[in-house]
Amino acid sequence: MYVTNEMEPECGDAAVRRVDIAIIGGGLVGASLGCALAPLIRRSGLSVAVIEAAPLRERLEVPWQPSFDVRASAIAEGSARHFAEMGVWPALREQAGTIRCIHVSEQRRLGVTRLRAEELGVDALGHVIPNAWMGRVLHRRLAELPLAWHCPARVEAILPQADGHRLALSDDSLLEAGLTVLADGGRSGLKERLGIESHERPYAQMALVATLALGRPHNGVAYERFTTAGPIALLPLKGQAMELVWTHQAGEERRRLALSDGAFLAELQAAFGDRAGHFRRVGTRHAYPLSLVTARERVRPGLAVLGNAAHSLHPVAGQGFNLALRGVMDLVAAIEAGSDRRDAPGSTATLHDFERRREADRHNVTRFSDGLVRLFGIDHPLLSHARAAGLVGLNLVGPLRRSLARRAMGLER
Ligand SMILES: Cc1cc2nc3c(=O)[nH]c(=O)nc-3n(C[C@H](O)[C@H](O)[C@H](O)COP(=O)(O)OP(=O)(O)OC[C@H]3O[C@@H](n4cnc5c(N)ncnc54)[C@H](O)[C@@H]3O)c2cc1C
Repeated sequence: MYVTNEMEPECGDAAVRRVDIAIIGGGLVGASLGCALAPLIRRSGLSVAVIEAAPLRERLEVPWQPSFDVRASAIAEGSARHFAEMGVWPALREQAGTIRCIHVSEQRRLGVTRLRAEELGVDALGHVIPNAWMGRVLHRRLAELPLAWHCPARVEAILPQADGHRLALSDDSLLEAGLTVLADGGRSGLKERLGIESHERPYAQMALVATLALGRPHNGVAYERFTTAGPIALLPLKGQAMELVWTHQAGEERRRLALSDGAFLAELQAAFGDRAGHFRRVGTRHAYPLSLVTARERVRPGLAVLGNAAHSLHPVAGQGFNLALRGVMDLVAAIEAGSDRRDAPGSTATLHDFERRREADRHNVTRFSDGLVRLFGIDHPLLSHARAAGLVGLNLVGPLRRSLARRAMGLER
């Protein structure tokens, strides 16, 4: 159901700027889309506007200060290739840690599996990049492109029209776009105002995120350790530190946020064991609630939904942004194919093509991430033995392990 809203009476005489594509949200996903559209902007003269509510570019010119307190993301090898196509990979990799081996284990069980880059004939299984650095590199790239950047400005109202949508911005400008992309993270209320429902299933878990200093080099090993309280992931950052993503039953994180650093590290060491060595120091701890959220509609005429606005996953497999980036690339490919047929970016044909390209990947990754959380969250002895056998078996069965790894790396769908 489309909604009418408070914008209509105000639209009368105000100057309305028409663009081909309006991207709502200049976060990691919206900014990536802006960068990925660069060739089309140049070749086809596509007009693009990005609207971002937070003053994100404020610190672009300030020299980068590597910080111990970073939030970082695991970026799959496939995503690195997409960033290379956008021309931003050389800058991104300056602050990237390299994942050369992934070590998967389960608490109180013997099963362990290791995935190694050299087995797959690649230099890296993935990369770990501070989110703030990714934002900075993408925004610098956007600043070089001939697109309209409205920031800080919030889209306050969205009104469907015969040929797209009209957007009212908090800086008093009005835009009309043939294609509007909702990359607003899903919490702005715009989806709801358009009547796009989401399916939400809370995991009753929180992710506690912090940076750790170790007593020995991490050697590019990423760890995923499953416990019945939830998975613990350690990701190798550039240098010696690691990013911790520790999943807790909701409520428990409050106690752990309040612990002294020493007490926190002792509990983590007890839960994780000593496979990564001794945890010496922890940075500021942040907690994030976890749910599986999927928008029931991802496209409508003149509208596409991307990133967290379309799907928010459990971080267990580090797939949320990687999946979203493949969505970005598929949307650009559908727009390009549409322009060869003389279809507009917001046309039904173009958006159906986009949805057709996305469906299987989105379904598979969502099911995989959710399945991992459920499988390893059940404390049943039989299941536990089966999981351990699965982990050991996986270590023995080369081709299956390689196929799984290639999927996780975003090199196979
Ligand atoms: C603990 C944790 C760890 C994770 N680790 C990984 C990982 O290792 N690998 C991975 O691939 N993924 C990971 N993810 C997922 C990843 O963080 C998300 O997929 C990604 O941040 C989504 O980005 P986004 O741009 O869609 O949304 P957001 O980052 O929320 O950006 C939305 C932007 O829209 C702007 N905005 C909102 N409303 C409006 C409006 N009305 N008008 C204008 N602008 C607006 C906001 O200011 C914001 O900048 C993790 C997630 C969590 C919670």
